Amino acid sequence: MTDLSVANNTPSLAFDVHAIRRDFPILNQEINGKPLVYLDNGASAQKPLAVLDAMDRYYREMHSNVHRGAHTLGDRATAAFEGARETVRKFLNAPETREILWTRGTTEAINLVANGLAPRLNAGDEILVSHMEHHANIVPWQMVAERTGAKVIPIQVTPDGDLDLDSFNSLLNDRTRILAITHVSNVLGTINPIASLIEQAKKQGVLTLIDGAQAVPHFQPDVQALGCDFYAFSSHKLFGPTGIGVLYGRAELLEEMPPYQGGGEMIERVSFERTTWNVLPYKFEAGTPAIAEAVGLGAAIEYLNALDRKAMEAAENTLLKRANELVDTVPGMEVIGTSRHKVPVMSFKISGLHPSDLGTLLDQQGIAIRTGHHCAMPLMDFYGVPGTARASFAFYNTLDEVETLFAGLQKIQRLFA
Ligand code: PLP
Repeated sequence: MTDLSVANNTPSLAFDVHAIRRDFPILNQEINGKPLVYLDNGASAQKPLAVLDAMDRYYREMHSNVHRGAHTLGDRATAAFEGARETVRKFLNAPETREILWTRGTTEAINLVANGLAPRLNAGDEILVSHMEHHANIVPWQMVAERTGAKVIPIQVTPDGDLDLDSFNSLLNDRTRILAITHVSNVLGTINPIASLIEQAKKQGVLTLIDGAQAVPHFQPDVQALGCDFYAFSSHKLFGPTGIGVLYGRAELLEEMPPYQGGGEMIERVSFERTTWNVLPYKFEAGTPAIAEAVGLGAAIEYLNALDRKAMEAAENTLLKRANELVDTVPGMEVIGTSRHKVPVMSFKISGLHPSDLGTLLDQQGIAIRTGHHCAMPLMDFYGVPGTARASFAFYNTLDEVETLFAGLQKIQRLFA
């Protein structure tokens, strides 16, 4: 049996992870008789008490519909809701609050942009995506391409899981209209060099959308420094509630784009002769919004703002480094995605074991990971696998949990491979 005892040279985490874990009550429980080790943060992250309390307080003390202005509760709800929008603006360093739209998540945000840019597209125009996209950043573009005659073209990925920059350079041309690319791959953890991609795209007049779903849980993007036209993310991966997400869009473009859905709130005036649209951001927010969820997301961002983000990133890197060191202790284990620029996400396979069996056997030991195609079938095809097992870490994970994962994998490998 391979020795996993590393007690003497285990690096210490740079901040008090045990204090942080007390903020996340869900982590403190047993699953199948074992302490829960939650390593499925890439699918959805857990929520701190600050988020649970903010949403509870919202419903206990201030719930009403927003933007009606008829009574005190309505004003309180509106202030909390719009206050959260301003918190998101600061988080992304967007120039204006009206450039922050609430959506149901990254998926809806990308659909909104694809739909909104459709009138600009003609037959033969090209939309560049990458081979490592989540389906949410492929399928909406395919649907729009179908309607307009445009083409969706994937930028290649290297075997290590980096974006192939030669492929990008050769594909960017005068037919390219849109570059829609992920900031961080949900499968590989790769951090793409989006600043330089955006810079090159902009020189050619190409519009840029960044899928930030897997980036924001690990670091804070600055949309002005990046210079992107659109940036999308989901609250539930950023330690906030499900059911809400964000689209940042440059005001000039949002003004030009048609509304995504029709109904209340998004209109200025309705008549059977002619209906006109509300101002930004409301033009894109038809119907009663997810008010408590917006408040919860605002609380999640404020919670993160109070942490030492640099120490958090360092702690996450320590987790990934330790995981990488332990790979060799599991015979037949192979990591998919070995970029030098990555967040703490580890996709892997173990010879002789199906990923879904791995997931089930780890779950029996209280360890939660994700298995399957991760909504990235083209990437699975590229690597010639039906799926992978994926452990994705958050700042509340510990080095002990990394050790537990590998001890679990060793045991499974010994018994079943
Ligand atoms: N983009 C990436 C990179 C993702 O990882 C995900 C979710 O896993 C999505 C988009 C879709 O996010 P949501 O399901 O919250 O809309």
